[in-house]
Amino acid sequence: MDINKIRADFPILGRTVYNRPLVYLDNGATTQKPRCVVEAMVNEYYSVNANVHRGVHFLSQQATELHEAARETVRRFINARSTSEIIFTRGTTESINLMAYSFGEAFLHEGDEVIVSAMEHHSNIVPWQLLAQRKGIVLRVIPITDEGELIMEEYQKLFSPRTRLVSVAHVSNVLGTVNPVADIIHTAHAHDVPVLVDGAQSIPHMKVDVQALDADFYVFSAHKVYGPTGVGVLYGKEKWLDQMPPYQGGGEMIQHVSFERTTFNELPFKFEAGTPDYIGTTALATALDYVSAIGMEQIAAHEHELLSYATQRMEQIPGMRIFGRAKQKSGVISFLVGDIHHFDMGTLLDRLGIAVRTGHHCAQPLMIRLGIEGTVRASFGLYNTKEEVDTLVAGIERVSKMF
Ligand code: PMP
Repeated sequence: MDINKIRADFPILGRTVYNRPLVYLDNGATTQKPRCVVEAMVNEYYSVNANVHRGVHFLSQQATELHEAARETVRRFINARSTSEIIFTRGTTESINLMAYSFGEAFLHEGDEVIVSAMEHHSNIVPWQLLAQRKGIVLRVIPITDEGELIMEEYQKLFSPRTRLVSVAHVSNVLGTVNPVADIIHTAHAHDVPVLVDGAQSIPHMKVDVQALDADFYVFSAHKVYGPTGVGVLYGKEKWLDQMPPYQGGGEMIQHVSFERTTFNELPFKFEAGTPDYIGTTALATALDYVSAIGMEQIAAHEHELLSYATQRMEQIPGMRIFGRAKQKSGVISFLVGDIHHFDMGTLLDRLGIAVRTGHHCAQPLMIRLGIEGTVRASFGLYNTKEEVDTLVAGIERVSKMF
């Protein structure tokens, strides 16, 4: 990987913050965009823009071709069997809400159980809780060790005749833990239970093959993989999606409408009511092509090197506590130093040009489990460097001395 060449693709990395070079370590929240992604959006608006699917005219057909080509790019990227299994949504959150609503409507009844884990993002907790209020379903929670790994023996014990779905993060946005989703899926399938994987934090950092994993559902957001905001994906096996009712009604998702009876469109359009963000899907495809050209294995190796280097350097800082010590870990370091409040640390690092995230990271149940209010989180992307890690370490040392 030619890191300087890659960095040159991201104009924002060249800017300063408080007269210091920007050190962007908040990739878990969102990633910066390479020039090609922004240009894909500008070019489509300037030279193709037309609403997709319904038009006979040239531009509409061209826009439709780009939109459907993007679906094929997503299919290829995660190795889904068919483009019918790729539903465009607004992001991970909407994908999981779609699942809670539609899978919930078809398959979940009072007393049925959904298994989640103790390290889930709120977006994989609250939609199920809303469903629990509507339908009386029950959430069962896989506990974690102090190192931040799922306790797999406890997971096995959570299954009952009422278990209908397992919904877990592939990678924790707080701990960086890479969960053993292949094992999780294998166990669930032995109980005839499908699995939804929240891939928000895995898709940008590793090669994902939904068929090899045998995932029933897999969701992610474009903006975390160098693509635009407002677009995401729900992958689902056709055999499940076919049995699920539409999530929203409107244009695009119908075959025929009369006041007496409406029939629904085929997959994937059944789940895509209204004008899709066709500019965003083109840009997502451009982002996936961009990371594919670098190579997901290369990206994973580079980020892993940054993680090892940062962990080893940060451990030397007096009073350092790192949360998340899983053996399989992605490029996320959550930490606290002594009794310095995470907010103070984050604010002072920001003054040094270092962007990190502070707080509960939308995972309050995990914070309760860890017995803390929040952490400071540095999360790496493909463009980060060891020099930036050095700047972070120097920054933390400097702030620590102030307290
Ligand atoms: N799940 C995980 C693990 C996440 O890290 C995030 C984003 N922080 C989400 C879900 C939600 O993603 P989005 O806000 O893009 O819908």
